[in-house]
Amino acid sequence: MTEALPFGVFSAGDGRRRVGARAGDQVLDVGRVLRDPMFDQPTLNAFLAAGRGAWAATFERLDRLIERGAAPLIPLRSVALHLPVAIGDYVDFYSSIDHATNVGRIFRPDGEPLLPNWRHLPIGYHGRAGTVVVSGTPIVRPRGQSGPAAFGPTTKLDIEAEVGFVVGPGSDLGRPVGVDDLAAHVFGVVLLNDWSARDFQAWESRPLGPFLGKSFATSISPWVVPLDALDGARVAPPPQVPAPLPYLTAREPWGLDIALEVRVNGSVISRPPFAGMYWTPAQQLAHLTVNGARLRPGDLFASGTVSGPSPGERGSLIELTWDGRDPITLADGSARTWLEDGDTVTITGTAAGVDLGEVTGTITP
Ligand code: MN
Repeated sequence: MTEALPFGVFSAGDGRRRVGARAGDQVLDVGRVLRDPMFDQPTLNAFLAAGRGAWAATFERLDRLIERGAAPLIPLRSVALHLPVAIGDYVDFYSSIDHATNVGRIFRPDGEPLLPNWRHLPIGYHGRAGTVVVSGTPIVRPRGQSGPAAFGPTTKLDIEAEVGFVVGPGSDLGRPVGVDDLAAHVFGVVLLNDWSARDFQAWESRPLGPFLGKSFATSISPWVVPLDALDGARVAPPPQVPAPLPYLTAREPWGLDIALEVRVNGSVISRPPFAGMYWTPAQQLAHLTVNGARLRPGDLFASGTVSGPSPGERGSLIELTWDGRDPITLADGSARTWLEDGDTVTITGTAAGVDLGEVTGTITP
């Protein structure tokens, strides 16, 4: 069986950015071995646009070359990794029922945790594509408003452990993408940290959605793992009540059994399970295009914070510390409610034995 390797963008000694495929702890210079200008580029976008047929043919050619020992491999540790995709539009969803329920309980302790629309559509918002950064990029603590005449560095800097989906071939304006067409339009997945300033978010999000509280940085892992590599991780999503509308009713299951792990300064603080996500990426894609909005190669949409039902499975500090009420303790004995300058947050993931790599970032003042 052909192995679909993770794809990314790297540079070696000469600094020239080009497409690479990851084989364990080594990198394959794809453009050089395949002699194809589609890969001699500083982003994956041309390859993304080429679609499933080209992807499968490429996986197969690389597989054969590696099998024959004919592919020159470069040690991973000797290359620099870059943002793999020139990201067009970026959408972030809110598709974990446990996350939405926790946040609802925190902000509306006396009301229903889920708002009436939540079980009817995948809630989302358009984020800021231009501040999506590659893993390892320092995260500068943002400044902003948190109340009347209150301005300064955020005091409630948080994370959101998420999975991102990288769009391949685009779609035509006015033509929705069907809920069973995910694999035709999505190349693969990245791990994603949706850094969030909760104090700015709470003040500015009335009545519109997230704005400056999230647009200062979103980090993604450098290697895009093809959907084809995740066949073994596909599971049925949780039952949906009420049954979704026909445009959100899929024939094929697109739950993914991805195990995430979140570390702060090396201490594991959470293990969010992606398999329990209420809305699937296929439903998210169908929903975000149902009004005729078009896709372009390199668009990115993310799952929303991944949280599970138990406290050790919460994918954000606002849930883990219940909005700062219950500090967590790290391995060095220090306590955290929100992130401090110098803290490093790393999210890793595996799915059916496939390593999804990691997304990491360190807070700077
Ligand atoms: Mn988010």
